[in-house]
Amino acid sequence: MGHLILSGVSKSFGSAEVIKPTDLEIVDGEFTVFVGPSGCGKSTMLRMIAGLEEITSGTIEIDGKVVNNLAPVKRGISMVFQSYALYPHMSVYENIAFPLRVAREKQPEVDRLVNRAAEVLKLTDRLKHRPGELSGGQRQRVAIGRAIVREPSVFLFDEPLSNLDAALRAEMRVELSRLHSKLGNTMIYVTHDQIEAMTMADKIVVLRDGRIEQVGSPLELYHKPNNRFVAGFIGNPN
Ligand code: ADP
Ligand code: MG
Repeated sequence: MGHLILSGVSKSFGSAEVIKPTDLEIVDGEFTVFVGPSGCGKSTMLRMIAGLEEITSGTIEIDGKVVNNLAPVKRGISMVFQSYALYPHMSVYENIAFPLRVAREKQPEVDRLVNRAAEVLKLTDRLKHRPGELSGGQRQRVAIGRAIVREPSVFLFDEPLSNLDAALRAEMRVELSRLHSKLGNTMIYVTHDQIEAMTMADKIVVLRDGRIEQVGSPLELYHKPNNRFVAGFIGNPN
């Protein structure tokens, strides 16, 4: 589960077409990174996949079903944003459990899922703490825990590490890769950071001005960039 097909998907805000008609397939379990300069349309692409932004044309299919008219919560998708908000008055446990409470899961199931997420994210010994008692990296892990707790088939991450310092960012990259190999879900990760793209991705999608310039593995993009933009952006100027 977690197979995505975008066919002719575009987005306009007023007269500005910020995503040109785009085709893209993402297969189950793939760690895909959208990379490109600020303003190229990365967040808009994610928000359309999540259902937070209506598409102007085209279709989005998830696991064989067209989801164009499906509400975000019905898409089997979960999204982590750059700025995450935890509930300061709730324990880490309740922060992670929140989507399960909303979905009215029974307590034994809440326990099972929260404990599993906490274990994956190494937060087991922090479950009774409040967010204010945690480090920045731990807080970010709680936000990720909340996103993964319902075990969706697709995770979307929009620059989830950009508020962290360099050391934490490096640590979280490793954590997220570990999380991906453990859970095996489809992940789409947005960043403007080429190093993140090159080190984390199975597949990189390079965006520029609302268009896909190239799709490929990090090695393919590095050795066979389609054009100077991709070469320059990925870091191999030859
Ligand atoms: P990125 O995430 O790559 O930095 P965005 O997807 O946020 O880029 O934005 C792509 C383009 O769409 C930008 O030119 C931005 O100004 C424009 N845009 C994004 N959201 C809106 C909106 N709600 N209304 C009008 N323009 C928008
Ligand atoms: Mg963005």
